[in-house]
Amino acid sequence: MAADSTVVSNTENLMKYMTLDQRGRVQAEYVWIDSCGGTRSKTKTGVSAHDDPATIHVMSYGGSGRAPGRGRLRSHAKPPLEWPENSDPANSTCVNLQTLSKAVTSVEELPEWNFDGSSTGQAPGDNSDVYLRPVAFYPDPFRRGDNILVLCETWDADGSPNKFNYRHDAARLMETNAKEEFWFGLEQEYTLLGTDAWPYGWPRGGFPGAQGPYYCGVGTGKVYCRDIVEAHYRACLYAGINISGINAEVMPSQWEYQVGPCAGIDMGDHLWMSRFILHRVAEEFGVRISFEPKPIEGDWNGAGLHSNVSTAATRAEGGMKAIEAAMKKFEARHQEHIAVYGEGNDKRLTGRHETGNIDKFSYGVADRGGSIRIPRQVAKDGKGYFEDRRPASNADPYQITGIIVETMCGGL
Ligand code: ADP
Ligand code: MN
Ligand code: MN
Ligand code: MN
Ligand code: MN
Repeated sequence: MAADSTVVSNTENLMKYMTLDQRGRVQAEYVWIDSCGGTRSKTKTGVSAHDDPATIHVMSYGGSGRAPGRGRLRSHAKPPLEWPENSDPANSTCVNLQTLSKAVTSVEELPEWNFDGSSTGQAPGDNSDVYLRPVAFYPDPFRRGDNILVLCETWDADGSPNKFNYRHDAARLMETNAKEEFWFGLEQEYTLLGTDAWPYGWPRGGFPGAQGPYYCGVGTGKVYCRDIVEAHYRACLYAGINISGINAEVMPSQWEYQVGPCAGIDMGDHLWMSRFILHRVAEEFGVRISFEPKPIEGDWNGAGLHSNVSTAATRAEGGMKAIEAAMKKFEARHQEHIAVYGEGNDKRLTGRHETGNIDKFSYGVADRGGSIRIPRQVAKDGKGYFEDRRPASNADPYQITGIIVETMCGGL
C-alpha cells in the first residue's frame, strides 16, 4: 500500500506523545462484543490492585497530598503490595514511581465497568447501563509497556447475561465438558476494503483478473495490503494471541489467519481479541475490514471461518471411531448449526467455490466440497481432528464452539 505522506507525519507526531512517561498509571482498553458482531472499546486509567488512595498519595506531586480528581476505581482495604523500601507513604512525597509495580497480574484485579448499552443496541434507553466483566487480558500492542487489552463479558443490571453475551453459555459448556479436552483451531478469512467499501486495490467500480494467481500469491498485483497483514500478525504475537499462521486467499484482497489450537473457551477469547486487533491495525492504515461471508457476488470466493475440532478421544489411538460417531450427531443437527454459523451464509454455502450445500449435510476425507472435511492425514493416522467448513467469516466463535460441544456431548 502506498504510504500517504500526511499519515506518516501524523504517526511521527503521535510517537512523541506515546513515548511520554505514564507515571506508573496503566491504561486498560476494555473490549466487548456489540449487538452486530463488532467490537467496541473504551479506556480506563490505573486499574492495578495497587491503585488505592494511598498509592495515589505517594504518586502526588509537591507534597500537598492527593492528586485532585483521581477517584478510586475499586476499594481495596489492603495497602499496596509492594511499598518502596524505606518510604513511609504517609509522609513521603518523592518516592521513585518506578519502584511501584503497576503491572496487572490477574484478571481478578480488574474492576467491573459499564457502558451505555442504548448506544450499541444492547439495552433500551430507559435502562441503558450494561456491565463489563473482565474475563481475560492481553499485553496491549498499541500502547505497549504495562498497558493491557481487557476482554469483557456484557451483563445486564438485573444480573443476567446480556442478550449478546454468547460467551457465558459457551464457558459453561466448556467447563461441564472439560474432561473431553476440546481443542479448536479457527481459520479466519476476511476482506480488506478501501474507504469506498470496494476491495482494496481493485479497479474503482471494476474487477481484477479472474481468480488463480492470488491464493498464497507473491508480487505486485497478486497481493494487497501485506503491510496490514504483517502488522496484525506481529501485534497478535505481542498480545499473546495463539495465532498460528497467515495466507493470502483465492479472492484478491482476501486473507486468512489461523488461531489455535486453543483449549475450550480460550478459542473464542483469542479469536475475538484478534478481530479487535485487526480492526484497530487497519484503522491506522485507513483500510476497512469486512467479515462478510460473500462480499462480492459472482465468481469470487466467499469468506469462511473453518472450525477445526478435536477431543482427547479423537486424538487418541483409534480416534477415527470417535470422529465417525460425531459425524452422525452433526448430521442430525445440521440446521441448528447453520442457524448460528453466521449471517448471509446462504450466499456463500452454494456447493461451489470450495463449499458445501447449505441445505444438506455431508462429510468426507479430503472433501473441500462437503460440510465437514476429515483431513487425509487424519484418515491415514486413524486419529486427529476434523474441519467443520460451514461457519461464515462473521460467525461468533463462542456460538460455534458452544454448539459443537453441545452436539457432541449434550446440552447444559
Ligand atoms: P486448511 O487451510 O488446510 O484447512 P489450516 O492450516 O489453515 O488448514 O488450518 C488448520 C488448523 O487446524 C490450524 O490452524 C490448527 O489450529 C488446527 N488444528 C490442527 N490440529 C488440531 C487439533 N488436533 N485439534 C483442533 N484443531 C487443530
Ligand atoms: Mn459520557
Ligand atoms: Mn486454511
Ligand atoms: Mn482459507
Ligand atoms: Mn480450512
